[in-house]
Amino acid sequence: MLKKIRTRFAPSPTGYLHVGGLRTALYAYLLAKQHQGTFLLRIEDTDRERYVSDGINNILTSLAWAGINPDEGVRLENNTIVNSGPAGSYIQSERLSIYKKYAEKLIEQGHAYYCFCTPERLARVREERQANKLPPGYDGLCATLSESEVKEKLSHNTHSVIRLKMPEHGETKWNDLIRGEVIFKNDDVDDQVLIKSDGYPTYHLAVVVDDHEMNISHVIRGEEWISSTPKHLMLYHYFGWEPPHFAHLPLLLNSDKSKLSKRQGDVAVLDYKAKGYLPDALLNFVAFLGWNPGNENEIFSLEQLITSFSLDKVGKSGAVFNIEKLDWYNREYLKKLHPEELVDYILAYLPNELQTKEHDREFLLRLAPLLLERIHKGADLAQMFEQGELTYYFQEPTYPKELLLWKNTKATREGYMETAERLQHVIKLINEAPASNDSEAVKAIIFPYAEKEGRGEILWPLRVALSGKEKSPDPFTLASLFGKHETIKRIEFAVALLSS
Ligand code: GLU
Repeated sequence: MLKKIRTRFAPSPTGYLHVGGLRTALYAYLLAKQHQGTFLLRIEDTDRERYVSDGINNILTSLAWAGINPDEGVRLENNTIVNSGPAGSYIQSERLSIYKKYAEKLIEQGHAYYCFCTPERLARVREERQANKLPPGYDGLCATLSESEVKEKLSHNTHSVIRLKMPEHGETKWNDLIRGEVIFKNDDVDDQVLIKSDGYPTYHLAVVVDDHEMNISHVIRGEEWISSTPKHLMLYHYFGWEPPHFAHLPLLLNSDKSKLSKRQGDVAVLDYKAKGYLPDALLNFVAFLGWNPGNENEIFSLEQLITSFSLDKVGKSGAVFNIEKLDWYNREYLKKLHPEELVDYILAYLPNELQTKEHDREFLLRLAPLLLERIHKGADLAQMFEQGELTYYFQEPTYPKELLLWKNTKATREGYMETAERLQHVIKLINEAPASNDSEAVKAIIFPYAEKEGRGEILWPLRVALSGKEKSPDPFTLASLFGKHETIKRIEFAVALLSS
């Protein structure tokens, strides 16, 4: 029988969850769910110097927002952090005695050794190796200490670490599920520190012990861990454990093919939330950073991703993070929202003074699709409000009266009066017709008159009267949006302005 699929996401709380981490978590989640397996979350907090206090909370909140909920380990339940499962604690700093036990076992078996080298000596070794064009790493001096020398130094509490003893010969290889066979010469692999002088394990020891103890079947992680994998495999070998499958995901790149940087978009997941990206849109976009279904389909819900995802279709080469594509996805998902949901979404991005106002829900339901044509995300909306581009939807516009004059109409008393008379006729037409919120119906009321008088002569001042802008949706759309009463009020204001 096939071994049960168990995957994990193992973030270090050295910062906030970024899109790269979200992708790793998503792929691990998809693989587990596809096989009715288990997806667990483990916190790798052994790097105490880079520990960020609200990191764990941020990681969990980001994942919960995206809808990726771990089955085991560290997770949020009713907004409280839960840490439970058969392996005990899933926070590495709470498992120190376990790592210590395994490190001591390695020492007993001669697969690891105490190292007492000072930072100064290590710096010298580094320089020498560089000068001799040797791969960076430790020179193995302390591996040659006799048992009694080690005892002696330990009894004096000399500063020490525990290092892995890599064989000098041979090679370590594995069949990576994304890259195929990967081979490292053992001689090129450093005698990695396993236990640091502060007593904490390094990531390398802790990750192997935990992936084993937590029965992980597939390790899915970023490409930056490839060079660590031979060390991990050597540990599996020394412990006599069967290693998991490894899948190293391609790098995320900026559009200029440089490594994705914070500046160019690798911002925290919750920043995307704040900008108004919908979780499903972000997940769909992130899923495609390295994977594709092998056909033309681009829209995949989380459920559909679970059925369609496969590591076979994850590429080796870097995946370009294209923010325009993310914007496209977001609008596609905004279009799928229920009209009421879209209204709520839009309301959240209105400026404060408009948020507190009572709004006519029917009006907002008519307005929302119009706004959606012009934005990809809430942040675009907020920006347009800030630039005063959308205020006329909520307040009567103000504008200089010359703006009401069409091309050849002179800014003279006659020109203003002529325009005022035309607008008065429009008021009359609207007044005589039944009220309508259908732009085609409104067009049928006004358009014949515009055809007769000259389109620009009628439609330009009408549009300015309704929006106060040089550019805006056409006047029929605006009039149907505002309704009879508000439309007439705005045109009357224009007529008064022209007559002043
Ligand atoms: N703690 C590592 C990280 O933050 C996890 C690497 C792994 O998945 O093995 O990326």
